[in-house]
Amino acid sequence: MTDDATAARDVAVVGGGVAGLSAAVFTARQGLDTLVVDPGESILRRNARLENFPGFPLGVNPRRLLDLLGEQAETAGADRLDARATRVGTVGAVDDPAAADPDPAASARSDAAADGARFVVETDTADPVRARYVVAATKNEVGYLEGIDGVGVVDRGKSYVDVDERGRTGVDGLYAAGRLAEKPHQAAVCAGHGAEVAVTLLEDDDAAFYHDWVAPEGYFTDRGREVPPGCEEIDADERRERESTALDATRDRFAEPHPDPQETHPSLEE
Ligand SMILES: Cc1cc2nc3c(=O)[nH]c(=O)nc-3n(C[C@H](O)[C@H](O)[C@H](O)COP(=O)(O)OP(=O)(O)OC[C@H]3O[C@@H](n4cnc5c(N)ncnc54)[C@H](O)[C@@H]3O)c2cc1C
Repeated sequence: MTDDATAARDVAVVGGGVAGLSAAVFTARQGLDTLVVDPGESILRRNARLENFPGFPLGVNPRRLLDLLGEQAETAGADRLDARATRVGTVGAVDDPAAADPDPAASARSDAAADGARFVVETDTADPVRARYVVAATKNEVGYLEGIDGVGVVDRGKSYVDVDERGRTGVDGLYAAGRLAEKPHQAAVCAGHGAEVAVTLLEDDDAAFYHDWVAPEGYFTDRGREVPPGCEEIDADERRERESTALDATRDRFAEPHPDPQETHPSLEE
């Protein structure tokens, strides 16, 4: 992933743990220009062995899984910014007085108003990011959302964001995914919710979308149907080539134990 955050984005995903990265895979695969803003602090990094994530019958190193999810988002076309979001603001009308304000965040709000973006994401390391959609997936961190009217924050000892059954907050274009949306504290559930929220976003967007499916050649067309938007038909040669590439990559990614050390609760660290 690159860290070029100067252009307006279709989607800014705030939080690149399992929920946020899964969301980014889906939005990027549909051609939405997606940026994941994340400082690399998924709580899953503390897991010692992930044994209940679908598809890994003998378990998987959780830090490896996060790397793979990041790689998958990148392959799909998402960029990554190694940063912490400090504030998400909404954009006013095109004649927003911010246009005359020399502050970078204010001028980003003004630019966003001009290019159709609805949000400005401020971070601790880079210029503000303009985006049409924001997916918040920061587990229990909500401080950066304080500047937006209409986001319901629920305090149950830890903080969560109030969403509807598809992950929409009270603000058009702003979604919450994973643990932040009060999903059960399980990696597979949060990953699945990230995917669901992204599909919701795609359905809410103007872009044509049916399903994100890769189907065998003729699956639709031999029945007289157009390949629906979001779907792809591939022939046998393409299928074999993709499998061969994937087998090589999988052997490489799993050839050695993951180099990162085990992490634990901060209160147990020196
Ligand atoms: C010790 C331990 C063991 C576990 N074992 C298992 C297990 O075996 N099986 C299982 O299913 N689950 C397990 N879990 C739970 C699992 O890790 C979580 O449920 C899951 O990671 C939640 O996903 P998430 O994407 O919502 O949050 P996270 O994965 O925590 O991702 C949140 C992301 O938000 C980012 N972030 C936070 N604030 C900001 C900000 N201001 N700006 C930008 N980014 C920000 C963080 O860097 C992080 O990457 C375990 C958890 C722990 C602590």
